[in-house]
Amino acid sequence: MKSAVMAACAALMVPMIAGVAQAQQAPNPIPAVPAEGVSQLEALIGNALHAKPAKARKLLVFSKCEGFVHGDGIAYGNKALELAAKTGAFQADFSTDYAALTDKANLFKYDAVVLNNTTRLNAKDNPAMVPNLIEFVKSGRGLCVIHSGADNFYDSPDAAEMVGGQFDGHPWGGGGTWAFKLDDPKSPLNQAFEGKSFKTGEEVYQQKSPPYDRAKLHVLVSLDLSDPATAETKDQKRADKDFAVSWIRPFGEGRVFYTSFAHDKRAFLDKARLWHILDGLQYTLGDLKADDKPAAK
Ligand SMILES: [Zn+2]
Repeated sequence: MKSAVMAACAALMVPMIAGVAQAQQAPNPIPAVPAEGVSQLEALIGNALHAKPAKARKLLVFSKCEGFVHGDGIAYGNKALELAAKTGAFQADFSTDYAALTDKANLFKYDAVVLNNTTRLNAKDNPAMVPNLIEFVKSGRGLCVIHSGADNFYDSPDAAEMVGGQFDGHPWGGGGTWAFKLDDPKSPLNQAFEGKSFKTGEEVYQQKSPPYDRAKLHVLVSLDLSDPATAETKDQKRADKDFAVSWIRPFGEGRVFYTSFAHDKRAFLDKARLWHILDGLQYTLGDLKADDKPAAK
């Protein structure tokens, strides 16, 4: 009898233990990029980036999420950067561990940090993160902020100021096709767009002011409100209708690139947006020279 009870308990415990184990190890929401996706990215990136590195470069790609997880945006973005590293333009490390940013000696090994779709980073429990990142950029290094990298630093106005924008909803949802114009068609960071306005499927952020201020940034791409579908979306809050999509800025001795592109994998599988991001990254690394003076409209 006793052994029968024990056996029943044991039978019950197995699923319970499995349940606990699953709760502690949540399924990774970042999907693997399928072989076909890797091949597409390889074909798009080729053997060399646009700028030759002035010296050996090290890149830290950070993709921690405390809020919304852009699963395939992170997966395809990280894979694209892994493949771009194979061109020799930089060496890349990938992390979701705050220690990569809070350990100053570790952070300062790098020439640039990419925030690939990070959300709601926890500055409260990681108090060294923001001051380290600000000093990192001011010291002459780079910060490349992709899409929901603007969904961070709500309690850190200095860091939001460094990024130059902050998420304030996305009146342009990922299911739509929106029109974009080039604020600086001659910028080397816009060369992938070949001087032309374009339409594409993307989720685009509205930026909050402060910190967003066109007078402090060199805006590269904006929404083109001459397109009725783009002009007429709901929940637009900016009275000035200034909806910048990508920009660069010097910050201290360093450089910042932000793009609202790359909500999902479509941006990385689109040659123009992919190369816009790669060129933006090489600007932050210090290898692609570009006019980054603020250019108010
Ligand atoms: Zn998004």
